[in-house]
Amino acid sequence: MSSAGIIKSVNWHLISACNYQCKFCFARNLGEAPVSFERGLEIIQSLVDLGMDKINFAGGEPLLHPRLLDYCAVAKDHGMTVSITTNGMLLKKDLIGTMQHVVDWIALSIDSGSNETEALLGRGYGNHVTHCSCIAPIIRDTGIHLKVNTTVTSRTFCENMESLIQELKPDRWKVLQMLHIQGENDDAVEDLAITSEQFNYFVENNSQVILENGESPVFESCNMIENSYFMITPEGNVKIDKGNVITKFTLTDVINRGVDMIVDPVKYQNRGGLYEWNQPLNNSI
Ligand code: SF4
Repeated sequence: MSSAGIIKSVNWHLISACNYQCKFCFARNLGEAPVSFERGLEIIQSLVDLGMDKINFAGGEPLLHPRLLDYCAVAKDHGMTVSITTNGMLLKKDLIGTMQHVVDWIALSIDSGSNETEALLGRGYGNHVTHCSCIAPIIRDTGIHLKVNTTVTSRTFCENMESLIQELKPDRWKVLQMLHIQGENDDAVEDLAITSEQFNYFVENNSQVILENGESPVFESCNMIENSYFMITPEGNVKIDKGNVITKFTLTDVINRGVDMIVDPVKYQNRGGLYEWNQPLNNSI
């Protein structure tokens, strides 16, 4: 079955395990183990049949999954745009080189220009920003699009990240308000959650940033995030974050009903869910 729906991109949270312990994380306690590679291939086929043009492999930390690049190659063979969202800790020059023909985008998660602040958030062990600054040019020089994902919390909403973003030179900068998901990050809410006003303060303080390709940052409040992402769990279920809770559906249910009946297509469009993800790189090699 093919789909002519509006939603064309999917995040598959391949694995819950992670080598970081970000306090605000809402994807480390999904309570599911990765599926067999054979079942994974069936899931990718289902996503193709559902009309997905882009797949983002996330986690946990997707680089901990031993078959990640095999999945990337399969998705690429299906004609999909392939993306990985990673904390970057395991990325080294050799590994990035092996991704050249099977990965189109690498999204690095960076929430602050300060190594110390990142460590306080649980994002790494004191050299996260330095490491990402080292691997960003390697990603770009390999001919892979670079994206930066930033989660804004009480420790960072006053930051101006322009100098770091100008140094990293991403093709896309997505900025997300910390989202509370019950059972995932309850312990972090009191310390790290921010109000809409605080998120807007960050937006106003960073909205003047223009990326090298002329694009502006993409800002997503909690309200914009909720129910606007098509997400697959490690076991191949569909999860929707809405009202601070996770609701799960079977993939079969979503195939029968259509993605646009599960995820809000208007919210997906309004948050910029569709963009030119298969754009050529200026520095393609
Ligand atoms: S790196 Fe990502 S998956 Fe890992 S703990 Fe941090 S937010 Fe969660």
